[in-house]
Amino acid sequence: MTDPSERALVPFVSVENMMRLVHETGLDEMLRRLAGAIEADFLRWESFDKTPRVASHSPLGVIELMPTADGTLYGFKYVNGHPKNTHTGLQTVTAFGLLASVETGYPVLLTEMTLLTALRTAAMSALAGKHLAPRGATTMAMIGNGAQSEFQCRAFGAICGIDTVRLWDKDRAATEKCARNLAGSGLTVLPCASAEEAIEGAQILTTCTADKQYATILSDNMVGPGVHINAIGGDCPGKTELAPGILDRASVFVEYPPQTRVEGEIQQMAEDHPVTELWQVLAGKAAGRKEAAQITLFDSVGFAIEDFSALKVVRDAIAGSDHYQLLDLLADPDDPRDLYGMLARAV
Ligand code: NAD
Repeated sequence: MTDPSERALVPFVSVENMMRLVHETGLDEMLRRLAGAIEADFLRWESFDKTPRVASHSPLGVIELMPTADGTLYGFKYVNGHPKNTHTGLQTVTAFGLLASVETGYPVLLTEMTLLTALRTAAMSALAGKHLAPRGATTMAMIGNGAQSEFQCRAFGAICGIDTVRLWDKDRAATEKCARNLAGSGLTVLPCASAEEAIEGAQILTTCTADKQYATILSDNMVGPGVHINAIGGDCPGKTELAPGILDRASVFVEYPPQTRVEGEIQQMAEDHPVTELWQVLAGKAAGRKEAAQITLFDSVGFAIEDFSALKVVRDAIAGSDHYQLLDLLADPDDPRDLYGMLARAV
């Protein structure tokens, strides 16, 4: 684009346009694309600037900024986590994000990321599951049936071949909502009366609850040999879902250790508790599941590179479509040094 007034306009993807994009692409295809993009970026892990996310905690929740860059593009996500929000009709997690050119510093995309976070988190979980879950796994326990849950179930269906999900939430209405939403998805959906019932016969155990306190969603005696645990909800200091005994028995896989040691399940363990970085498994530099009886645990907290990958997927998907608006976000005067003159002439 040569016209300066056009060059300054930034594509913006609203929630409505994100929904159109997902429907036109197809949810399974979108999840697979996101998993593919995350995998490709994890394979060039060393080319990214990495830092634990910058968190601002309050008694009720957390607001976080998640930046990263690869030398060509810079991205960040703004995301909150407020478990009590649902009691007043608000969401636990909302987000938006931005992608910018490293060369000019100008943004190239601004987008809603509440839906995109649910999609990328599910894609990331399923990508980890593809490498860590027991071979031939067909059944997943889905504990915590809130906003993320259906996305998790669909991603494990599309990417890991799961055909049955066993649902449990302490709030029956959440389970009913999840079961209703998954009807017709091709998954067999079994609402359960307890966490113990939900994990019966499941080879993959996903925990995705929200509570700003140390919780025990899975106790040590609930986890038998050979399962894969996909722990999503423990993603903040003081907010965990697993009994420490499980962490002693499991092989723990993480995104970025400096962040996970503060936010993940392993915050309960010694600072040097052994973990494997997932990117190394994807790159063939470290082993994933070694034996059938092994308990594998993806201690997920969500890392900036996953959002960066998702932002690129959206940037590419909207090209040539009408699924975005152009925002007048940057001043970008004709004479770059005459910002004052631009303001004065606008009288
Ligand atoms: P949500 O509030 O919509 O749903 C959480 C559900 O957990 C609710 O239905 C609630 O009733 C249920 N729950 C709470 N305590 C429970 C218990 N003891 N037993 C059974 N169910 C229980 O939240 P959400 O948007 O689905 O997010 C879930 C969690 O995932 C949050 O903690 C969020 O911070 C986390 N999260 C993590 C990532 C990541 O990348 N790891 C990404 C997004 C969200």
